Amino acid sequence: MSIKIKFLGAVRTVTGSMHLITNGDSKIVMDCGLFQGHREEYYTRNSHFPFDPGEIDACVLSHAHIDHSGNIPNLVKHGFKSRILTTSATRDLCSSMLPDSGHIQEEDIKYLNKINKRKGLPARKPLYTRIDAEESLQYFDGHPYEQKITIKDDVSVTFYDAGHVLGSSNPLLEIKDNTGPIRIAYAVDLGRKNMPILNDPVTPPDIDYMFLESTYGGRLHSPPLETKNMLADIINSTVKRGGKIIIPSFALERTQEIVYYLNQLFDEKLAPEIPVFVDSPLAVNLTEVFFKHPECYDEEMYDAFKSGKDPLGTNKIKYIKAVEESKQLHKDSRPMIIISAAGMCEAGRILHHLKNNIENPANTILIVGYMAKNTLGRRIVEKHETVKIFGQPYNLKADVKIMNSFSAHADRDEIFEYVKPLKDSIKGIFIVHGEEEQSEKLYNLLKENNFPVHFPHPGDEIELNGNSS
Ligand SMILES: [Zn+2]
Ligand SMILES: [Zn+2]
Repeated sequence: MSIKIKFLGAVRTVTGSMHLITNGDSKIVMDCGLFQGHREEYYTRNSHFPFDPGEIDACVLSHAHIDHSGNIPNLVKHGFKSRILTTSATRDLCSSMLPDSGHIQEEDIKYLNKINKRKGLPARKPLYTRIDAEESLQYFDGHPYEQKITIKDDVSVTFYDAGHVLGSSNPLLEIKDNTGPIRIAYAVDLGRKNMPILNDPVTPPDIDYMFLESTYGGRLHSPPLETKNMLADIINSTVKRGGKIIIPSFALERTQEIVYYLNQLFDEKLAPEIPVFVDSPLAVNLTEVFFKHPECYDEEMYDAFKSGKDPLGTNKIKYIKAVEESKQLHKDSRPMIIISAAGMCEAGRILHHLKNNIENPANTILIVGYMAKNTLGRRIVEKHETVKIFGQPYNLKADVKIMNSFSAHADRDEIFEYVKPLKDSIKGIFIVHGEEEQSEKLYNLLKENNFPVHFPHPGDEIELNGNSS
């Protein structure tokens, strides 16, 4: 038997994380993320698997983000019948996130089919529905951190905290081939030290090979500790102008982190206590999952939680589920903070908030997350003079502020620090999960420092032979 790795998704790009690891008859799929891109490619890439899902022994899921978990319902639709192994918190987050994703697929197809009908084109089916997503949840098998789970005689997995989002992990696969056990770590979304709420990332022990992310392989972030002050400055200056602060945010983690900081700022009187609305039904559900998993908290969050301090500000912050309430916000002219999804401004309620607020120079659009190429979020980051929302042009007059200290991904130096202790023992590092330019920068940095580093292309397969290949 020999171990082979096939690099299938999030290779020289950031979305659609998925890799296949085989050892003789054993087949493990690592993540099954949704590839996000232009419509045709989106449907083709996500609806075809380059392996038979019915033959897979387990899907090992690193964390709940849709670019890692979002194609699981489709995997199940295509015949997958074994376990989806992950942490307990990831399982609970996916119970809301996957059905929500199914709902988005259905809405998206409704919209597309309206256009197709006008053009006389045939109607299409969604990639998967909310019901498909709910079906797939029965295969989820959640586990605590740092407990070894046997998949087959020759394969086991242990989850180590990745410090990236609640429940995130760097799974460590232990596979026995002819040469003995080989340990493969999967650090495809690596978090940072000193982030609020979460623990620092943990390095699994005795790693032979490692998948390594490179989202920010060539960039540096501001330290997380500066976040609070920067946020206070933005609130103070916007309130002085009588404006609103619109924050496009991922429903998972980023929203809870912002709320966590706002709560502290208000308590410490570092910013005026203006109304805060979290306008995203998904974010409301995910925040509830946070309360169920104190085992994922860092010490500060745990202490605050245990002593009943309400660290996620449930008393101060208004969580909105109903559409009507969301619409009411447009009529309310008070300075306020609106945190809304989707994170890259491609869909969802954030579009309405942007449409209503983007042309007013008193307002601030606060960017707190990664904006992929070809998204409205990226055009706002690049400060285009006009941007299209629902097909209509709008002048971008609001102040755009970018805070990258919220990033849940390690930057160049943080990644380097993470792998540095492994230098003399590791047999291979595979650079994945980054836009090509960023991945290449990390690849060069590690190569210059004499790491056995590889930079695969999508679809490449490599055989591990115990030596670096
Ligand atoms: Zn992630
Ligand atoms: Zn990712």
